[in-house]
Order: sequence, then C-alpha cells, then structure tokens
Amino acid sequence: MTDWYPAATKDQMGDAGAYVGGPYRGVLHTTEGTSYIGAKQAYLKNGSNPHFTVEGKKVWQHVPLSKAARAMKNLPGGVETNRLSAIQIEVVGFARTPDWSLDTIETVRKLMIWIEEQTGIKPSAPRFLSDKDGWIARLDAPQRMAANAWKTWDGWCGHQHVPENTHWDPGTCPITALLIRSPLTPENPKPVGAPMANAPFVTLLQFGEGYLQVGADGGVFAWEAPFFGSLGGVPLNAPIVDACWTPTRMGYWMVGADGGVFPFGDAVFHGSMGDVKLNQPVTSISATEEGGYILGAKDGGVFPFGPGAAHRGNALWAG
Ligand SMILES: [Zn+2]
Repeated sequence: MTDWYPAATKDQMGDAGAYVGGPYRGVLHTTEGTSYIGAKQAYLKNGSNPHFTVEGKKVWQHVPLSKAARAMKNLPGGVETNRLSAIQIEVVGFARTPDWSLDTIETVRKLMIWIEEQTGIKPSAPRFLSDKDGWIARLDAPQRMAANAWKTWDGWCGHQHVPENTHWDPGTCPITALLIRSPLTPENPKPVGAPMANAPFVTLLQFGEGYLQVGADGGVFAWEAPFFGSLGGVPLNAPIVDACWTPTRMGYWMVGADGGVFPFGDAVFHGSMGDVKLNQPVTSISATEEGGYILGAKDGGVFPFGPGAAHRGNALWAG
C-alpha cells in the first residue's frame, strides 16, 4: 500500500491511530462550507479531519492511508467507525446542494480509483438520500447501516450511512458518476492490437483523460470513458454524422445525416428531422446546458429541440 496519494498536496494533521479491523471501506463527506481554508479551520478546531479533502481539481491529504482519520463520531461501546479501516474523503460543498462540478466529480472519481487500488475497496455504494426524503439526520435513519452491515461493508458509502452518527452528508452526491470505472481495469485488460471498426469514424467525445470513438454505423468504442450503448449492428436509414454528451456526461445523442436523433444513457429524445425532407444533410449536433440539442445542416439549416434550444438565425450556403 502506498500511504500518500501522488496527486495530493500533503497537509498532515492528527490521526486516530491504527485500524482495529477491516475490511477497508470508503466514506464520503461534504465539508458544509465553501472553501478548503474554512474546512481546515474546522478540522483543526474539532480534531475532525478526514484522509483527503477535495475542492474542484485540488486534493489535500491529511492522514496516511494506513492510519485512521477522525471525521466521524465514535461512541463508547458499539462498533468502531473511524478505526474500522474507513478511508474518508471530505468534498468542499454542502449536502443540501449536491450538484458537484464536473471537475470535482472527476477529481473524486480518480482519487476513489487510486484508493481502491491501494485497499481493495469495491466500486459499489448504497442509495444516497437527501433531507427531502424525510428526517435522515438521526441515529436510526432508514439509510443508516445496522452495526453488522457496517462491520462487513467493503464498498463506498456516505457519512449518512455510518452507525453511531447523525450527520447526513454528502446528501444525494453524484455517486453513479463517481463509480464509473475504466473499461481498462485488470478485469478487462487492454486488448492486444486495436479492435477493428466496421465503418469510418465520425467524431470523438472527450471524457476526463478518456474519450469515445463514434463510427458512421453508430458503433462506439470507449477508452476510459463511460459507455451507454451504441447502434452497432442496427440498420440505419442514413449514416451517423455526429454525437455529443449530455450536460451530465451520463449519456449522449447521435445524429444521422437524415436528421434522425438517437439518445443513450440519460439523454432525452426531444424530436428530430428524421421524418422531414431536408434540402441538405444534417452534419452536426450540439447539446444545450438545459438538456436540449441543436442540429446543424450542410446548407446552414439550424434545428433546435428541447430545453434551452432556440433558433437564433443562421447563414446559408448555396453551393
Ligand atoms: Zn461528514
């Protein structure tokens, strides 16, 4: 095990001593503040620091992995919390507003992957609740694990799931995105030689350090990026010409030259030009921040669909 995360800034604080049992499990928190400086002051005042704090793209590490952190309550008797091999991450932000930035999600996701490699923690998690789901800030809240479940837990969870604690951070954090794992994990080793596509490629969709390759047949090749389905093997009326992520990057749309739109993952279908006779083929699709999309055609035609999409004018190409 490597004790210190290479990508973290070391800001060492007190630890809670050696672990008293296993297996390793991960606990996510939110700092309930707006800055690392504020979080650090609270840690030092309360002796409540985690192993790691994340703010946007930045990671600080306070305790080596092989020692217990102390961001949770541990009542006398009962089960151990901090010292039951709990690796703890505090994310700067609030449980009530779990709309983490894409930078934060990507930074926490990478940190989680590194911790899993060091400790064997499994990339799984229970459901996360918010205060809209009822009174969850209590010892016997429905989401909190029973002592026996906690003792054997070997995945990720939130402070809200830990027994002997009343906090409900990190709320409904984006756990689905945080648990996206590379297709190139040891279980899915990189193939020897490149896989062969059945059609030419039309676009790349970037994701962190990874990307998707999208082919004219709607085939998708994912390289350290999430895969939500493809049109490989599906007969198409016209070739795929472009694709784009949804705002959450938990899905994507593809568009065909005939204006047909194909949603995947959390992408929603808001309409298409598939049934309309076009003067010139569609050549591009672009997402709005609100979850809609705009199609562009070769002759300059612009076709908006869904939330945030509007026709603002267009130039024409008469060629
Ligand atoms: Zn917490």
